[in-house]
Amino acid sequence: MQLTHILLLTATLVIMEIAVTLFHRHVMHGIGWKWHASHHERGAGRGWERNDWFAVVFAGATILLFILGGSHAGVWWIALGITLYGLLYGLLHDVLTHRRFGPNWQPRHAYLRRLVAAHRLHHAVRSREGGVSFGFLYAPPVETVRRQLRSRQVRQ
Ligand SMILES: [Zn+2]
Ligand SMILES: [Zn+2]
Repeated sequence: MQLTHILLLTATLVIMEIAVTLFHRHVMHGIGWKWHASHHERGAGRGWERNDWFAVVFAGATILLFILGGSHAGVWWIALGITLYGLLYGLLHDVLTHRRFGPNWQPRHAYLRRLVAAHRLHHAVRSREGGVSFGFLYAPPVETVRRQLRSRQVRQ
């Protein structure tokens, strides 16, 4: 493992969060709403959701990247960064926030509490438009998200 590989891994995590936030805002709440709507329905997070197809597609694309990475070390490390992002996403979004796999775990750490609270506010909007806080590993301060939500509801 070289320093460049660690940097590549870290940069991939940061870029993934930015890319996924934009993807969530413009694609999942846009043309991909057909799949994502299932995740905004009441009682979402129990059993299979159509929204889970996004994870399947991303996993498939990452496997292809690993195959390509067989001959390019840089690509392999980027693929590892994407996989790590996927694991963190699954842990923070599916396990911690939506409790899809059981444990009713109340986080104590300020970062985790903020992430969960902000994502709950994302789910306060069940429609395609007017959403707030689209990130998964980063969330703005909860007060900011609340303010955005209020100003959007006034406008609608
Ligand atoms: Zn959403
Ligand atoms: Zn969610």
